[in-house]
Amino acid sequence: MVRAIVGANWGDEGKGKITDMLAKESDIIIRFQGGSNAGHTIVNDYGKFALHLLPSGVFYSHTTSIIGNGVALNIPYLLKEIESLTGKGVPQPKILVSDRAQILMPYHVLFDTYEEERLGGKSFGSTKSGIAPFYSDKYAKIGFQVSELFDNDSLKEKVERVCELKNVMLENLYHKPLLNPEELYGTLLQYRDMVAPYVCDVSAYLHEALKEGKNVLLEGQLGSLKDPDHGIYPMVTSSSTLAAYGAVGAGIPPYEIKNITTVVKAYSSAVGAGAFVSEIFGDEADELRRRGGDGGEFGATTGRPRRVGWFDAVASRYGCRIQGTTEAALTVLDVLGYLDELPVCVGYEIDGEITKDFPTTVKLEKAKPVFTKFPGWKCQIRGIKKYEELPKECRDYVEFIEKEIGVPITMVSNGPGREDIIYRG
Ligand code: GDP
Repeated sequence: MVRAIVGANWGDEGKGKITDMLAKESDIIIRFQGGSNAGHTIVNDYGKFALHLLPSGVFYSHTTSIIGNGVALNIPYLLKEIESLTGKGVPQPKILVSDRAQILMPYHVLFDTYEEERLGGKSFGSTKSGIAPFYSDKYAKIGFQVSELFDNDSLKEKVERVCELKNVMLENLYHKPLLNPEELYGTLLQYRDMVAPYVCDVSAYLHEALKEGKNVLLEGQLGSLKDPDHGIYPMVTSSSTLAAYGAVGAGIPPYEIKNITTVVKAYSSAVGAGAFVSEIFGDEADELRRRGGDGGEFGATTGRPRRVGWFDAVASRYGCRIQGTTEAALTVLDVLGYLDELPVCVGYEIDGEITKDFPTTVKLEKAKPVFTKFPGWKCQIRGIKKYEELPKECRDYVEFIEKEIGVPITMVSNGPGREDIIYRG
């Protein structure tokens, strides 16, 4: 059985925590898109970890962690991340890397940085991890697959060809130092030796695993609204964040994905630029940011303060629909216990008209939030295990969100730890 765990919003919904929790009953956990540009924060018995490239199942010794072909694979980063776990006492995880995954090259990071510099005030708020240049090259067919590292002659020839192209940009557009093909080839040989122990024909492996009835989790990065097709283009990421892409990015048949668990955050947060209709500012925002997540809403990769806002029913309903959600997990509900009143964005006013449908970006830029308010529950709900034991105001809030998003909320997360979860029937 394959289950996808994906985000309904702008990312940072707490997918890592839900994945880490569900990984207990799983055999295989797969990253199918994105790279080391976003992070999952996980709190468990070994401590607190920020994972960027590895799937959140790496903490269990019974699971296999897979980097699928859809991922932007930063090889030195992968090794560093593995070491950071084993250094803290986590047993050496079983890791497989798809032979069809493409390699994030050192120049992708440079190009990302140079382009943000060139754009100045009009930049996309990139994390400068090289993700956009990586995916551009993949689709321009000048990327490097892991499998290509194992054929020296063709690798050398391709490195020279690609450097020629990159150097035109470096010289004429960015006015930066040029790439040295010899040096880059040497780096790639080092990458080959680093990744060799993990390389696997992942789709064949998964084909067998599914035949044997193994439980597989697909772990998404970011959320629906950062999808390049269905999100807030162009303020999106460069690979699909949708469960549907899990089939492509892991190499499994789409019909194998039986369950799509969409993680919905009880309020809104976003990193980077782009329209964010229910965003709040000033002291109100500072307080939510400070209390949010586990120790504040600051990026797991960049440490940047996240933008925050009230729950956006318009965006979340759309986010759940476009994922094909079969069930939802509502997270970080505990954070909201301090509020006297909880505003919820239930509509967008665009050019004088109110809509409940999430629009395309041009219209989204003009949208103003229509809020309705719920009474707060004014207490700490961490530690509660049964849904019925939540305060009535809190259940009303959950049930209103459930009605708005149109899918059952089967899990309510009331703290960062594995055990901070309330299952609903
Ligand atoms: P992801 O990228 O979707 O995995 O999200 P992040 O890990 O970036 O952000 C989620 C943050 O919220 C992390 O710091 C988690 O430890 C924390 N978190 C997850 N679920 C809960 C919850 O229910 N309550 C609280 N207080 N924090 C949570």
